[in-house]
Amino acid sequence: MQKFGVFVAILSAAQAFAATAQTDEDAFVEANILGIFYHELGHAVIDIESVPIFGQEEDAADVFSILFIDWFFEEEAALELAYDVSLGFWGEALMRDAEGFDIAWWGVHGPDEQRFYNTVCLFYGGNPDMRDDFAADMELPEDRADYCPEEHDMAAESWGTILDDMEARSDGAAISFIEGSGFAADIIAAEITLLNDGMQLARPLAVAIRDCGEANAFYDPEAVEIVFCSEFEPYLRELAAVLD
Ligand SMILES: [Zn+2]
Repeated sequence: MQKFGVFVAILSAAQAFAATAQTDEDAFVEANILGIFYHELGHAVIDIESVPIFGQEEDAADVFSILFIDWFFEEEAALELAYDVSLGFWGEALMRDAEGFDIAWWGVHGPDEQRFYNTVCLFYGGNPDMRDDFAADMELPEDRADYCPEEHDMAAESWGTILDDMEARSDGAAISFIEGSGFAADIIAAEITLLNDGMQLARPLAVAIRDCGEANAFYDPEAVEIVFCSEFEPYLRELAAVLD
């Protein structure tokens, strides 16, 4: 609730980020589509590149997602994405509370609040000099903030090795956008084109936007395919309304 004011301010700033974004809400939705896509790409890379994971794979995929934003965007755009993606987790927590659900302690994902602070911490840790306002806006406690640069460096070293291999590879495979249309499809298809310019995977990866009957996104290791459910975009618009 306290972060309400931040959200409005940032959404205004975020309009400058996305050429395709028409409204503040679109900018928030676009940022979270990217954040979720990178998270699923993290799962795909873990599988395809046989990345050893010590701990929860969901945490590793969250780390992958925020590192991508940290590494592959100019500072201003990265900052705007990081605000929206972090607040996406905060919005999930607000929505959960509003709907009267308890925190799913048994779930494979950490609680939304923890994912929020982990994301804020890693992003802040990637450039603490430039991002102290971000940490303050997100009310990252100093007790955690002190360790965020170390947390970031450890994560960057772990994932950096994997990404270096993917960037250096010349006989690998591409990511293919195979199905879907609309707002999310445009964003993800454009992102895939950029990714294919910069890196190759050990095996081909397919990405589809598909009706699933629920707001979800997942990596299917059998099909070596990321599915981004068409129900996710309207869900993200609801999430934006919860934060507004
Ligand atoms: Zn996941």
